[in-house]
Amino acid sequence: MKKKCPICEKGELVKAEDIVSEIEGYVFVERGERCTACGEEFISENDAQRTISIARKLGVWPEPLKLHRNLSKSGRGLVLRIPSDLEKGLKLKAGSHISISKIGHKIIIEPE
Ligand SMILES: [Zn+2]
Repeated sequence: MKKKCPICEKGELVKAEDIVSEIEGYVFVERGERCTACGEEFISENDAQRTISIARKLGVWPEPLKLHRNLSKSGRGLVLRIPSDLEKGLKLKAGSHISISKIGHKIIIEPE
């Protein structure tokens, strides 16, 4: 059975064994699923838990999980999709005000 991507509703989810998360310089490779169209990655629950427990042992949790995302093109500009765990954790919703700061080559997004 093919699973449809809940984000873009176009692609289908295929198994991926090379999802990379970086936490404070430590790189974790996880298994999960990736959308063939938008590239959204869904880390399997087991692997996400494993990463969290290792990160805790290393003392690098709860530093933010660094996720790799591609920007998508929308009518007037580029769109960054916020991972759903961050969305829930920070209680973001459509219309939420955020501030964007540029520090060197980094972009910091802060809910207001
Ligand atoms: Zn998708």
